[in-house]
Amino acid sequence: MAAMSKRHVVPAIFRGLKGKCPDCGEGRLFWRYLKVQPNCELCGHDLAQYPADDGPAYVTILVLGHLVVAPLLLFPFIWEAPVGLVLPVTLIPIAFMTLGLLPLIKGGFIGLLWALKVRREDAALHTADALD
Ligand SMILES: [Zn+2]
Repeated sequence: MAAMSKRHVVPAIFRGLKGKCPDCGEGRLFWRYLKVQPNCELCGHDLAQYPADDGPAYVTILVLGHLVVAPLLLFPFIWEAPVGLVLPVTLIPIAFMTLGLLPLIKGGFIGLLWALKVRREDAALHTADALD
């Protein structure tokens, strides 16, 4: 597939969610669990230039906190059962959900950064360090 000339946000996010290069949609975005490929293996696009930083972790916590943790607090089991039972029964699945969701969200986040043309060198312009 040819690289998109105009960058659309939604397709770029979906390409990232699938773990694909946001530029061509074919090459792999990650070479390990959360390690972004320096360059796309198919189109050669520089994938390391997008500063995802803590954004994907923040979004993952936001999503799981609202969709899993907050509704979980509505169940009486959480408040009535012994802590020694509640902690492993809730925290272990939440930890696996977090680890499963994080690469998806990081991919979507990089897709968003690609569509908005936010690069690592642009991010440095917006920090207080740039004024020093
Ligand atoms: Zn590519």
